[in-house]
Amino acid sequence: MRNEVNLFGCSPAELAEHLARSGQPAFRGGQLFQWMHRHGCMDFAQMTNLPLALRASLASAFRLESLDLHQRQQSSDGSVKYLFRLADGATIEAVYLEMNHGVTLCISSQVGCIQGCSFCLTARMGFVRNLSAAEMVGQVSAIRADRSLEPPFNVVMMGMGEPLLNLANTLRTLEILTHPQGYGLSAKRITVSTSGHVRNLLELGKLAKLPRIAISLNATTDELRDQLMPVNRQWKIAELIAACRSLPLGSGDRLTFEYVLLGGINDTTQDAKRLVSLLGDLSCRVNLIPFNATPELPYRQPDSASLEAFLAILERASLRATVRWSKGRDVGAACGQLATPFQGPSLSQRV
Ligand code: SF4
Repeated sequence: MRNEVNLFGCSPAELAEHLARSGQPAFRGGQLFQWMHRHGCMDFAQMTNLPLALRASLASAFRLESLDLHQRQQSSDGSVKYLFRLADGATIEAVYLEMNHGVTLCISSQVGCIQGCSFCLTARMGFVRNLSAAEMVGQVSAIRADRSLEPPFNVVMMGMGEPLLNLANTLRTLEILTHPQGYGLSAKRITVSTSGHVRNLLELGKLAKLPRIAISLNATTDELRDQLMPVNRQWKIAELIAACRSLPLGSGDRLTFEYVLLGGINDTTQDAKRLVSLLGDLSCRVNLIPFNATPELPYRQPDSASLEAFLAILERASLRATVRWSKGRDVGAACGQLATPFQGPSLSQRV
C-alpha cells in the first residue's frame, strides 16, 4: 500500500515532528532534510548517517517523492522547458533560463490558473488545483538533477498559476528553499510574482525575510486593467499600489513591476506617463515585456517605435526600466506561454 505522507514537502520542523512520534531526536529531522534538499538523495537506504533501523522504519512508514520529469524541450537560446507529470496525471511546466545574472528556474505554483488574465495562455486552461510544496520544490529538485546544477541559483514563481492563491504551500516552498540545511538560497534569490491579490500580498509582507516580489501590472487605468486582469475588479490599481507601499522592504530593496506591452492596447505615451505617475516615487524597477504573439490570443507585439518611446518616458522620469524579451519563445516557454501539455512517453520510460 502507498504510504500517505510524502516527507519531501515537509519543513524541517514537520520532519522533526514526524520523527519525534517514533522516539527520534529532533536533529534526525535536520539530517533527513539535508539528505533530501542538500544532497538530492531520495532513497532512505542511502542516508548513511541515519541508523539502519531508522532507515527501514522510515521506508515502511513514509514516501519520498519528487516529480516525474516527463519531457524537456531545448530552446535555441539555451533555455529549457520541462514538463512534469504529477501523481494524479496532471501536467505542469517549468523553465530553466540562463540569464546575465546566472541561472534562473521559473516554477509553477498551480495546475492552470483561475485569474483569467486575457493575455496569458495558462488562463485558457482554467484552474485545476494547487500544487503541494513537494510538487513546487520537486520542480527545482528535478531540474537541478537534470542539469547537474548546484546552488546558488535563482528561483522565480512565475510559471503556471498565482502563487499567492496557494499561499501556504508557497510559504513552505520558500522555507525549504532558503533553509541553511537545504538549498540555502537567500530569500533575495527567490521571486514571488503576483497578479495583484492584495490580501495575500499583505500576508506575504509579514515574512521575516521577504523574497523579491514582482507585481504583474500591465495597465495604468482600472478600466483597461479590469479587462486584461479580472483580479483588478476586486482590487483596484490604487489599492494594489497602496499595498505595495506598505511592504517592509529592506534598504536598497526594490519591487519589480512587470508590464507586458500589448501592441496598440497599453503601449501608448499616455500609458507610459501614467505609469510614471503611479510608480515614480516607489522603490521599484519596471520590466517591460513585449508580448509574445501567439495565434491563440488576440494581441500583437508592440512596434519598436512605441517600445522605444515608452521606455524613453520612463527613463526621463528616472524610473528604472528594462526591456525583457522573453526567452524560450521557440519552445513555448516564454512569459504567458506555459499551458499546453505535450504528448509522448516520459523521459524515465525512454531511458
Ligand atoms: S498571468 Fe499569471 S495570474 Fe494571470 S492567468 Fe496567467 S498564470 Fe494566472
